[in-house]
Amino acid sequence: MIDQIYRKAVLTVAGNQKVEELARARMWPLAQRFVAGEDISSAVQAVKELEQDGIQGNLDLLGEFIDSPARCTEFADNVIRLIEAAHQAGITPYVSIKLSSVGQGKQDAGEDLGLKNARRIIGKASEYGGFVCLDMEDHPRTDITLQQFRTLVGEFGNQHVGTVLQSYLYRSLQDRAGLDDLHPNIRMVKGAYLEPETVAYPDKSDVDQNYRRLVYAHLKAGHYTNVATHDEQIIDDVKRFVLAHGIPRDQFEFQMLYGIRRDLQKELAQEGYRVRAYIPYGRDWYAYFSRRIAETPRNAAFVVQGMLKG
Ligand SMILES: Cc1cc2nc3c(=O)[nH]c(=O)nc-3n(C[C@H](O)[C@H](O)[C@H](O)COP(=O)(O)OP(=O)(O)OC[C@H]3O[C@@H](n4cnc5c(N)ncnc54)[C@H](O)[C@@H]3O)c2cc1C
Repeated sequence: MIDQIYRKAVLTVAGNQKVEELARARMWPLAQRFVAGEDISSAVQAVKELEQDGIQGNLDLLGEFIDSPARCTEFADNVIRLIEAAHQAGITPYVSIKLSSVGQGKQDAGEDLGLKNARRIIGKASEYGGFVCLDMEDHPRTDITLQQFRTLVGEFGNQHVGTVLQSYLYRSLQDRAGLDDLHPNIRMVKGAYLEPETVAYPDKSDVDQNYRRLVYAHLKAGHYTNVATHDEQIIDDVKRFVLAHGIPRDQFEFQMLYGIRRDLQKELAQEGYRVRAYIPYGRDWYAYFSRRIAETPRNAAFVVQGMLKG
């Protein structure tokens, strides 16, 4: 409950336009801990650096709630440019997209624009043997995202497209089971949005417990599982679970956010686990940065200290 109140307070303040204007100028140097840079070349460079530590990258061009259809298509074009740049740099493209950023819910010649643009993006990634993960957004988008995921797996195969389930939602265990026929590649997360009690567990202990249930069920079903958390206790439990159930190391990977628990990321890679860092980049970094601050007071303290110094 306290987590929820803290998160709500930070996101409300951060969403204020005056605060945003002020914060953008002062916070960029601090945001660089969590964001690889503003352009494609810094994103590609970040992947190369992580690869030296045996950590793979998951590139994410930042941009949320893009409004006009033209801007959504332009955004999709930029993701395609990113995929091409990664390929040219010798990296197998692995990107995440938010379907709302590429036009989900907007019609284009009788079809959902988000689906059309996602098709172009996944088509390009699969040409280079790459992968696209459809991020999960706030709960009103869950149904349509899962439907579109189903369509896209049908067209491209589960080796080129995956999606995300959030353990704070009551519905996720059922959603997971409902996808079993696709043998889907799923990233499990706790959930980053402010959600009402009608749809999401208000208590963190329930969210954590449900997280374990989701990961264990997906692993036991034999599907590829992305364990996306910085929670060390859960990571240790997953290590024990895979050992006890004879689950091979190529059936799962640990995923964490760029700039968070780099020590743990390196440690896991050294132990021989697959590890991937989610690397956001782009000019539209402010909303992403605010969510990271909202996640833990430790990050807010980091920002306040930085601003006082700056
Ligand atoms: C690869 C990846 C992809 C994601 N994709 C999505 C998505 O598509 N949709 C979605 O809703 N959410 C997504 N998230 C965010 C996720 O839902 C959580 O908000 C976030 O990961 C924090 O939860 P946690 O599992 O790390 O556990 P928590 O219980 O929040 O944290 C566990 C411990 O990790 C550390 N920690 C956690 N966050 C931070 C931080 N920001 N800074 C410093 N330390 C921290 C703290 O020590 C904390 O005690 C993603 C997260 C990851 C790692």
